[in-house]
Amino acid sequence: MIAENLKRVLEEIPTGVTLVAVSKTKSVSDILEAYSAGQRDFGENKIQEMVGKYEQLPKDIRWHMIGHVQTNKIKYMASFVSLIHGVDQEKTLQEIDKQAKKYRRIIPCLLQVKIADEDTKFGFHPEEVATLLNSNVLQKLPNTKVVGLMGMATFTEDTAQIQSEFQFLKNLYDTWKDTYSWTTLSMGMSQDYAIAVASGSNMIRVGSKIFGYR
Ligand SMILES: *Cc1c(COP(=O)(O)O)cnc(C)c1O
Repeated sequence: MIAENLKRVLEEIPTGVTLVAVSKTKSVSDILEAYSAGQRDFGENKIQEMVGKYEQLPKDIRWHMIGHVQTNKIKYMASFVSLIHGVDQEKTLQEIDKQAKKYRRIIPCLLQVKIADEDTKFGFHPEEVATLLNSNVLQKLPNTKVVGLMGMATFTEDTAQIQSEFQFLKNLYDTWKDTYSWTTLSMGMSQDYAIAVASGSNMIRVGSKIFGYR
């Protein structure tokens, strides 16, 4: 079932769009089923859960931290995490840089931007992104590389609203893309990835449509 679901999603997205299979709460055997079907990018939203799975699973898996990042737990994933999507504070970048240094790595990160019309979603306000990028903060963090943006649209049936939120993020991404040689715009989940891809996303994070409901 998982392999078929994966195939269906992959058939729907153009080449050049990376599918991150969101495996949070799912078992190691579910992940292995997707792995056997060729999937290598997996997303988790809790650092400790990701570390546990990393230890048990093949080492060519690329692990994506898509959830809110607690600074005191960055040390547990710093040796292996492939991309941190949920950076929403300068303080988080400082700590990622400090931990990455210990492993002589440069950890790729995305700035999470608040685009939804909801109070609960984490993320920088768009103006804060501009302030950060206009400052010299990033230059002082050699072991951290911001490679793009991440955002979550409002949970709504209103596709016009979702589209306008994704379009907003795409515009913000385009504003800074060349200056910082960005590569990655992470937007789109099970319910809205088609809209996200049509709006210019090149990385989607899909969980329930692959692994079933949580
Ligand atoms: C859970 C989660 C997803 C995947 O959600 P689905 O609706 O299951 O596809 C994507 N992004 C983030 C940040 C998540 O927490």
